[in-house]
Amino acid sequence: MAAVKKSLPRRRFDVVVVGAGGAGMRCSLQLANAGLSVAVLSKVFPTRSHTVAAQGGVSASLGNMSEDDWYWHMYDTVKGSDWLGDQDAIEFMCREAPSAVYELEHFGMPFDRNPDGTIYQRPFGGHTANFGEKPVQRACAAADRTGHAMLHTLYQRNVAARTQFFVEWMALDLLRNEAGDVLGVTALEMETGEIYVLEAKTTVLATGGAGRIWAASTNAFINTGDGLGMAARAGIPLQDMEFWQFHPTGVAGAGVLITEGVRGEGGILLNKDGERFMERYAPTLKDLAPRDFVSRSMDQEIKEGRGCGPNGNYVLLKLDHLGADVINKRLPSIREIAIKFGNVDPIKEPIPVVPTIHYQMGGIPTNYNGQVMAPKDGENQVVNGLYAIGECAAVSVHGANRLGTNSLLDLIVFGRAAGNHIVDSHPERQHSHQPVPESSIDYSLDRVDTLEKRTGGEKTQDVGNAIREAMQHHCGVFRTIDLLEKGVTAIEDIAQRAANISFKDKSKVFNTARIEALEVTNMIEVARATTRSAAARTESRGAHALDDHPERDDVNWLRHTLWYSEGSRLDYKPVQMQPLSVESFPPKARTF
Ligand SMILES: Cc1cc2nc3c(=O)[nH]c(=O)nc-3n(C[C@H](O)[C@H](O)[C@H](O)COP(=O)(O)OP(=O)(O)OC[C@H]3O[C@@H](n4cnc5c(N)ncnc54)[C@H](O)[C@@H]3O)c2cc1C
Repeated sequence: MAAVKKSLPRRRFDVVVVGAGGAGMRCSLQLANAGLSVAVLSKVFPTRSHTVAAQGGVSASLGNMSEDDWYWHMYDTVKGSDWLGDQDAIEFMCREAPSAVYELEHFGMPFDRNPDGTIYQRPFGGHTANFGEKPVQRACAAADRTGHAMLHTLYQRNVAARTQFFVEWMALDLLRNEAGDVLGVTALEMETGEIYVLEAKTTVLATGGAGRIWAASTNAFINTGDGLGMAARAGIPLQDMEFWQFHPTGVAGAGVLITEGVRGEGGILLNKDGERFMERYAPTLKDLAPRDFVSRSMDQEIKEGRGCGPNGNYVLLKLDHLGADVINKRLPSIREIAIKFGNVDPIKEPIPVVPTIHYQMGGIPTNYNGQVMAPKDGENQVVNGLYAIGECAAVSVHGANRLGTNSLLDLIVFGRAAGNHIVDSHPERQHSHQPVPESSIDYSLDRVDTLEKRTGGEKTQDVGNAIREAMQHHCGVFRTIDLLEKGVTAIEDIAQRAANISFKDKSKVFNTARIEALEVTNMIEVARATTRSAAARTESRGAHALDDHPERDDVNWLRHTLWYSEGSRLDYKPVQMQPLSVESFPPKARTF
């Protein structure tokens, strides 16, 4: 073993950013521009990160098309989060939104334009004017390819800033010393199968979401929660993992996303009687109520026998009334997706849709500078040297339910904030790299080595499928404590199998079998965190909706969950109800 270790190649950087999505690349741009040496790792070519698939838009109260105010945006986000969002971070995000979006515009992001040259903005679910009075146009859009435009803009800027990209590199584990400081990562170069030690004064996790732990998902195949697995194995808790967003409109049977922007442009949901049922559930916002609300309403319609199709298991999204011009100009990719995956041309026919897993609200706990926070000696403390941003982080601005377009915003606001914070605190950390304990490297090497040497264990694909099926079955739109508890048992059983994975192909070069096996070791941590956290929360809040506990319970549950991998232990911490400069929004009933 020692001989193997000694030969491990090493590289040193000021900062290692794991993930080249919108969050990672917005952060690395700030770092590279400040002259720091920065390495950005990605499992895929940067512009193939899941951010590229974002369709609908990025929110900011620019007020280009209807009167708007960042304070209204803040109110909507707090209410959308079902009061589980931290109000300091939410104020920070909504205030920073206009400048973060204008900055992208100045970077060259090709937004759609109004006739007067300003950025085009469409309505989106849960975004309102004057504290819930009526829908507002807040989603800044580049047709239905906003994420694509954003990611390419950020990549080009990073290339110009000389960010060093490590493409098709998979980070494996965090390196920590006795004091718990994070000193970099171990990483696998896929092309050679070689493992490297990447030392860093600061490490940033920007690994995106883990929606692939469900069978039906809008997420890219690479969204396996690697950053969450790395944090969990390093003893860092995961926050609010019971809260997962089901997007109301995944193409039935395929899972591919149809953006909420369709309803923003005027599309409506119909049941089998041709009724626009959202008028009954949300009289003011109707089809543009927040996602948890719309998903549950759809589920209810299907359950009560008003679903469409031979099996009554989907509803219809009608947009033909918008006309071919609007569809071709504002929603061209949606038309393509509907034709390819739903077998319908939306200019003529409605699209069959079902709620599909889409987004994780929880993640690695951070403050609004992106610094990872964990309880230590009875206090919530910064984990030295570690930041988390984007979907893998819980800042927490989305609380129990995220509003559409607030994620792309979260990426650029907190990507930039973390970058600034790292640059500002860099002089203090100017010291040479701290020594990395061999034990920390050994832990990671042993993990890979054991996997490598095992023969005749469980097949990766079988374990992956078992996770996806168990999550689909036990952790859906509507949940019960009984079902979730069975989910905990099922996932813990699968975890035993995951600890015994093996793969036949032991070759080094571009061995995807090895990569998939390593991904499953991360997925299982996310599934454990989710089921365990969910089974403990005996209330309905945001996306966590229990049939047997239908009410929100602020007395007992206005608090964040913290889950630890070791022993699957739970802990809790208060929600930050105090914003930075304005008055707090106290909890109230959530109607739309
Ligand atoms: C189909 C779809 C449409 C969406 N539309 C919208 C929208 O219109 N508006 C909105 O606000 N939000 C939208 N969202 C949500 C939003 O796009 C995502 O939350 C966001 O893009 C996540 O960005 P990220 O930077 O955190 O991660 P990602 O863009 O997912 O990037 C993760 C990066 O981490 C890398 N990575 C992961 N693991 C490792 C590892 N072990 N080693 C090295 N690299 C690793 C990946 O290669 C990738 O580069 C949408 C999401 C989906 C799925």
